[in-house]
Amino acid sequence: MPQFTISTDARLTIDDITDRVAEAVDDVAPGAGERVCTVFVEHTTAGVVVNEAESRLLGDVEAYLSQIVPNERWDHDAIDDNADAHLRTLFLGNSVQVPVVDGDLTLGSWQSVLLVECDGPRQRTVRVVV
Ligand code: ZN
Repeated sequence: MPQFTISTDARLTIDDITDRVAEAVDDVAPGAGERVCTVFVEHTTAGVVVNEAESRLLGDVEAYLSQIVPNERWDHDAIDDNADAHLRTLFLGNSVQVPVVDGDLTLGSWQSVLLVECDGPRQRTVRVVV
């Protein structure tokens, strides 16, 4: 099963991983035909979504996630001080599916696969299953 790692560089960041996903798909399903690609992050404080990778929008998403889950004292903080990251990830989810036709991701013009880091900086593992 293809996988790759991403090193995030701040507490709350968004990385466009579309090209890495496309490379992984190309490694396992380069031929003709229709398939489905699942992109899964094996973490509880980072999520994956499909949306537009426009820099101002990404800043808006980071601001929005900070607003919907403020960094205040939560019960889980007694363990590892990252409850806000877990709660933000609840809204994102841990996987997305993208159709693959003839070896290519069929994303829309403005769609990218985005890794949303909520508790960085860390190294994150992304699995790609076709
Ligand atoms: Zn935790």
